[in-house]
Amino acid sequence: MASLLSLHSRDFPGAPAPQAHFQSHATPCTAGATCIHPATNNLGTYGTRSVRYAVEYHLQGPYRPRNPKASDFYACVEDNFEELEQVYDDRYQRQHGFWRPVIHDVLCKFLDCGDLRQGFARVRCPSCRLEFLLAFSCKGRYFCPSCHQKRMVAFAERVRSELLEHVPHSQYVVTIPKTLRVYFKHHRKLLGLLSRSFYETLKEFFQQALQDRDALPGVIISIQTYGRDPVVFHPHLHCLATDGATSRDGCFHPLPWVDTEQMMRLFRHKLLRRLLAEGIITQAVVDLLLSWRHPGFSVFRGEPVEPDDAAASERLLSYCLHPPFALSRLHYDSDSATVCYHVGKTGADPKEGSAPLTVCSALDWLAAVVTHIPDKGQQLLRYYGHYSNVRQALTKRTGAHSPLQTAEQSPEQEEEFRRQCRCSWARLIRKIYETDPLTCTRCGTIMRIISIIDQPPVVKKILLHLNLWDAPKRSPPSNNPPRDFVYDAHFFRGLAE
Ligand SMILES: [Zn+2]
Ligand SMILES: [Zn+2]
Repeated sequence: MASLLSLHSRDFPGAPAPQAHFQSHATPCTAGATCIHPATNNLGTYGTRSVRYAVEYHLQGPYRPRNPKASDFYACVEDNFEELEQVYDDRYQRQHGFWRPVIHDVLCKFLDCGDLRQGFARVRCPSCRLEFLLAFSCKGRYFCPSCHQKRMVAFAERVRSELLEHVPHSQYVVTIPKTLRVYFKHHRKLLGLLSRSFYETLKEFFQQALQDRDALPGVIISIQTYGRDPVVFHPHLHCLATDGATSRDGCFHPLPWVDTEQMMRLFRHKLLRRLLAEGIITQAVVDLLLSWRHPGFSVFRGEPVEPDDAAASERLLSYCLHPPFALSRLHYDSDSATVCYHVGKTGADPKEGSAPLTVCSALDWLAAVVTHIPDKGQQLLRYYGHYSNVRQALTKRTGAHSPLQTAEQSPEQEEEFRRQCRCSWARLIRKIYETDPLTCTRCGTIMRIISIIDQPPVVKKILLHLNLWDAPKRSPPSNNPPRDFVYDAHFFRGLAE
């Protein structure tokens, strides 16, 4: 199981250190009794509700669910959310923009994410009747570490298996000068201009190189507002594009080499022209930016990924949607209300001029981090050209390749796409942790979700019975003795099922 643990800590910063205070029975319970293992992790959708997953890792067989409330990040939000909301206008509005209602919603939901008191699903083994509870997840984008991670995995898997054509792809990272960043912070709709400008750059570049004005590359762009240090608002693009373009007859024309310097110039031209037309910047700003010897704009292209390398494709796609911060880099001291965030990998990174450690007050840190929460309905993932949502929808409807179209996704198409992206939580867990959360640990039978319980009186009754209602706000230290939960089957009789 060492591989699970190393995967856990290295690649999934949303997960805290193993906790040992929940443990299942090692041997079958006595007749008429059933184990309940409180589950507090995330993943998946059941009906209209999102359900958290029960397992992140298991050391020696039994499930050992983690407690999301045990993280420093949770403590930081819980301790400082109220004060942040109160002082925000006076202290942070000037720097970070208005307090957007979406921030309040996302933080509130995050504090309830994985909290059994907000309701849960009952999962039962039909054979030996072992049970556990799955709490609901908040689905918070770009904020809740576990929900964002689930989204990242689902996105990478769905796009790799259903969308990517069997052709080479390359990753592009596109940045803009510091001078321009602030405009995107205060005018979030402009983020769409950023991705649109780069897509058109790619498209024109390929069309010109192939001498075909109808040829279209397949492009997926993730708009990110954060870099290595989450307190810095750093709008930039992560992009996965076909190494070539598809002509109208459906034939793919590879183009394995691009001049990123020329690409940068074309992108700069398009973006500045658009910002000027929108009245965001003046001609003086344009002239100034064009006069710089080091333009501040950059287009980086990574090594191509071959079509058969599914793992590399998914890695790149995951990177496109990586979360704003890593829990493993965050330390919160509740006594001094201070956050330390390790920015560098190991020690300082003088090349980038960044300190290895950001230390600031928790309020300052949170005020900066919430700037990465997108507005409600704002899509930071965009599909263009051969991969545009219009084309995806047409292909799906007709069951065949249809004429290529270039269009940004409509809300309906985006919703359809996201619906398809929702993979079953059990399959995703299998994928991440190499274990099947729905396989009964006692007898190996596939377990089933037997009911969703979200009526507050019923939730309370069950949790009181299991002695889980008055659980401390945050989990006890991990050296607490293991707790088992046993209840008799009669208890649930008569409750919603
Ligand atoms: Zn069983
Ligand atoms: Zn969540």
